[in-house]
Amino acid sequence: MTNATDLQTNSRIHELLKKHFGYDEFRPNQKEIIQNVLQGKDALAIMPTGGGKSLCFQLPALALNGTAIVISPLIALMKDQVDALQANGISAAFYNSSQASEEQQKIWDELQNGALKLLYVAPESLSLLQPLLNTIAISLFAIDEAHCISSWGHDFRPAYTRLGHLKQQFPKIPLIALTATADKATQADIMQQLRIPKAKKFITSFDRPNLYLDVRPGQNRLKQISSFLKNFRNESGIVYCLSRKSTETIAAKLNNSGYHAQAYHAGLSSEERNRIQDDFVNDRIPIIVATIAFGMGIDKSNVRWVIHYNMPKNIEGYYQEIGRSGRDGLDAHALLFYSFADVIQLRKFMQGTPTEAYQLAKLERMQQFAEALSCRRKALLNYFGEHLFEDCGNCDICTAPPEYFDGTLLAQKVCSAIYRLKGTEPLGMVLDVLRGAKNAAVYDKGYQHIKTYGAAKEVSWRDLQQYIIQMLNQGILEIRFHEKGRLLLTPLAEKILFENKKVQLAHILEADEKKKAVAEINKPAATSLFEKLKVLRAVLAKDMGVPAYVVFSDASLKDM
Ligand code: ADP
Ligand code: MG
Repeated sequence: MTNATDLQTNSRIHELLKKHFGYDEFRPNQKEIIQNVLQGKDALAIMPTGGGKSLCFQLPALALNGTAIVISPLIALMKDQVDALQANGISAAFYNSSQASEEQQKIWDELQNGALKLLYVAPESLSLLQPLLNTIAISLFAIDEAHCISSWGHDFRPAYTRLGHLKQQFPKIPLIALTATADKATQADIMQQLRIPKAKKFITSFDRPNLYLDVRPGQNRLKQISSFLKNFRNESGIVYCLSRKSTETIAAKLNNSGYHAQAYHAGLSSEERNRIQDDFVNDRIPIIVATIAFGMGIDKSNVRWVIHYNMPKNIEGYYQEIGRSGRDGLDAHALLFYSFADVIQLRKFMQGTPTEAYQLAKLERMQQFAEALSCRRKALLNYFGEHLFEDCGNCDICTAPPEYFDGTLLAQKVCSAIYRLKGTEPLGMVLDVLRGAKNAAVYDKGYQHIKTYGAAKEVSWRDLQQYIIQMLNQGILEIRFHEKGRLLLTPLAEKILFENKKVQLAHILEADEKKKAVAEINKPAATSLFEKLKVLRAVLAKDMGVPAYVVFSDASLKDM
C-alpha cells in the first residue's frame, strides 16, 4: 500500500536518517518499525545485537512532537546513547538515581519546557517522574532491553514489571519494546506484561552468516587457545570465562605466552573498566579476558574472534556474546569449549533460584547445542524460531560432518507421533509412545490406541532420545520449555511428513569410541569379549545403521 502520505513520510524519514545520523540506508526492518511507530501503533522489535534498535525509537522521536521516554536498564548505556545523540545535535538527557538533585531539577525544567526530544530513564526512577508525565507532551515510549520484564528471559529486572501501567495510563501513545534476545514464550510474556496485545512483531533475522561456529571439547583449553591464536596475530578478540578469578589467571598466562591480554570483570573500579574498554575499542589492547560483564553496549566492528572458555548458561547469552565479533561483516570465529564440568557448575549456580526450572531447561538446550551432530547454525536459529532449510557450510559440523544414515523413516515416525499427540506432550511421553511403553501414564491417556504407538520399539530409549534431540537441533521439532517441555512440529517437519523430505541422522557413537572401534576391527584378534562386542556394535552402527547396545550380565562381567 503506497499513497501520497506514505511517500511523504518515506522521504521525510530518509531525510532525518541522513541529517541526524549520517546514514544513507536503513538496516533490515528499521524503516518498517519506524513507520509503524509514526502511525501511532505499538511494536515489539526483536533484532540482534548491533542490528540498530536504537534508531527505531530515536528517529521517530525526532519526527514526532513531544518527548520520547526511553526506559533503559544500564546507566552506562544511557550515558553513551545520550552522549552520542548530543554529539549529533539532538537534545537528549538521562534521569536516574545517580544524579545530583540540581541535575535532576534541570532535567525536570527542560521536560516542562518541552526542550527534550528524548529522555532516558532507569525503570527504578520512572516513578519519580510520574507527576510530570501527565503534564507534558510525550511522543512515544520505548522499552529497551525489554526481555528484562520477563522472568522467562535471561536478565530479569523486577522494576521492569512495573512498566505495565504505562499503556494503561497512556493508551494513545505508541509503545515500542525492543530486545535482542527473546524466545517465543518470552515474546508473548513481554507483550502481555506491557499490555500491548495488538503490537506488531518485527523479527529481524538472527543469522550472522560470517561467524564460523565451532565447538571443541574443553580439554587442555589453554593449549588449544594458544594454537588457535596463532591464526589471529594482533587481531582483536574476547575470551569469556565464568569467574573473575579465571579471567585474571588466563590473562596472565596469555601474557606469559607473548600475547597482550587484559582481564575485565565487575570487580574492577569503573574508571579501570572504562579505560580497558577504551583501550580495546581503540585497538590498544587486542585481547580481553572477561566475565559476561564485558560487552554490553560496546560498539567495535573488527572483533575477529570470541572464545567461550566456559559454556554460557543459555543460548541467548551465547548468541549475544559471539555476536560481538564480525560486526563489520567480515569473517570471524566463535569457539566454544564444552565440558561437562561446566554444566555441573552452572547447575549449582541455578539451584534454589526462583526460576530454577526455566534456567535448567535453558541450560539443557545450550548443552544440546554444544552436543549437536548437525549444522550448528540450524540449531542456533531454530532456538530463536527461525528455520534454515539448508545446512550453513560455516560451522565445525558442516566442515567435518559425522557419519550419517538415512533417518527419514525414523524421523517420520517421530513427527507422526507428535502430530497425533497434537504437540501436547513432552519428550518423555513421546518416547514412551513411540517405544510402546506399557505404563500407567500412557494407559491413563489412552495413548496405546494411537497409530504410532510402538512404531519405534526396536530403537533403545536412549538412542531414540538422542535422535529426537538431533531432530530438535535440525529445526524439525521445537520444544516449549515454559509449557511443560511439550514437543511440537515446525514447518520443516511438515515437509518431512507430507513431502517426503529426507532426514540425515548421525550415528550415536562417540567420536573417540568410533575411532577405537575401527582400530579394533583392524586388529587381527580383538582381545576380550567386551572388546569383541564393542566391535560388533560399531559394525552394526557403522555399516548397517542399526544402533546397538552391549549389555552384560553380572556373570559375564566376572569373565572379563
Ligand atoms: P542494538 O541496540 O540493536 O544492539 P545499536 O542501536 O546500538 O544496536 O546500533 C549498533 C550500531 O549500528 C551503532 O553504531 C549504530 O550507529 C549503527 N547503525 C544503526 N542503524 C544504522 C544504519 N541504518 N546504517 C548504518 N549504521 C547503523
Ligand atoms: Mg541497544
